[in-house]
Amino acid sequence: MSAQVRGNTNSSVGSSKYIAPMRVGVLGFGGLGQAAARMLVAKQEMLWVAAADLKGYAYSGEGLNLDTCLAAYQSQGSLGYLEPGGILTSRSIQELIAQASSVDGYFLALPNLPNTFIASVAQMFIKSGWRGVLVDAIKRTSAVEQLLVLKEELAEAGITYLTGCGATPGLLTAGAAIAAQSYAEVHQVKITFGVGIANWEAYRATIREDIAHLPGYSVERARAMTDAEVEALLDQTNGVLTLENMEHADDVMLELAGICSRDCVTVGGVVDTRNPKKPLSTNVQVTGRTFEGKISTHTFTLGDETSMAANVCGPAFGYLKAGVALQRRGIYGLFTAAEIMPQFVK
Ligand code: NAD
Repeated sequence: MSAQVRGNTNSSVGSSKYIAPMRVGVLGFGGLGQAAARMLVAKQEMLWVAAADLKGYAYSGEGLNLDTCLAAYQSQGSLGYLEPGGILTSRSIQELIAQASSVDGYFLALPNLPNTFIASVAQMFIKSGWRGVLVDAIKRTSAVEQLLVLKEELAEAGITYLTGCGATPGLLTAGAAIAAQSYAEVHQVKITFGVGIANWEAYRATIREDIAHLPGYSVERARAMTDAEVEALLDQTNGVLTLENMEHADDVMLELAGICSRDCVTVGGVVDTRNPKKPLSTNVQVTGRTFEGKISTHTFTLGDETSMAANVCGPAFGYLKAGVALQRRGIYGLFTAAEIMPQFVK
């Protein structure tokens, strides 16, 4: 995948010196955005300074306060109501980028509704002149392909963009890339996920985007559904969505990483929207042939106690840290979760 190297800004400092935390923003403050902010509270290496939702944004160079942000969002529906510092606006992302120039990187916890939305946000960053790291947890193959089209523009803008960095695509795709190393030839990558959430309203975009994969539905149809229509659909299935042969970017990411052709990758899963217990254990099975001619399968299974939020936001920040390291070395452009190793954020 193309990336450009410009100069070599060596930012490493001696271990005895204070290393300023990475200044991080979260775009989208729904289920994943809030979980991301919660996760950042415990991190020393990252400071949460910026956040935006549909109706407003908040920025503080000293760091945002989780409790007051959650209170503003949950009681009034937007971070724009935060006192002091919240701004109500229908152009929250553009205005935040313009105001918060010192942010090192953003996690895009935004709905990709329509399916072109995240690519349009990438273009906003390119146009703004901001330089830094962007990480998304985008899911569809066609959505990642739109970002691939932007790779040269991202590189020229000095942006290091890591795409597909959630759970699937993300953690499981990266697991498959590692598992593939035992084989001379990879025959199949089969991702099966189980998600349990207590109520669908905590993750509206995630559930709408999952509904879009059901037979007879599309992204546009799922986007246009009212909350009452989503509830009526979930009532018919007792809150459970069973998804097969999904259009998931794990396939294009593994193909681009040179591991296997996209046709060898399948993704499906079960989402229970009325029970936080996972309906099945999330896993990726990687089948291949070793150099000795043996056919075998590696299986990487996530712990059942780990939530969707833990398995999406953890990798997203791990990739953001890796992206900051690339950015500081002058490496810009577009990368996927299958070609970069995430770094552990302390
Ligand atoms: P959500 O519906 O709970 O929240 C969306 C947030 O985005 C809200 O705060 C909303 O105000 C904000 N928003 C919407 N439009 C906006 C705009 N134009 N400008 C600024 N903010 C805007 O969403 P969620 O369930 O947390 O899902 C977020 C994304 O994460 C979805 O695209 C979902 O598919 C993805 N996801 C990925 C994985 C993975 O493993 N890769 C897993 C789960 C979810």
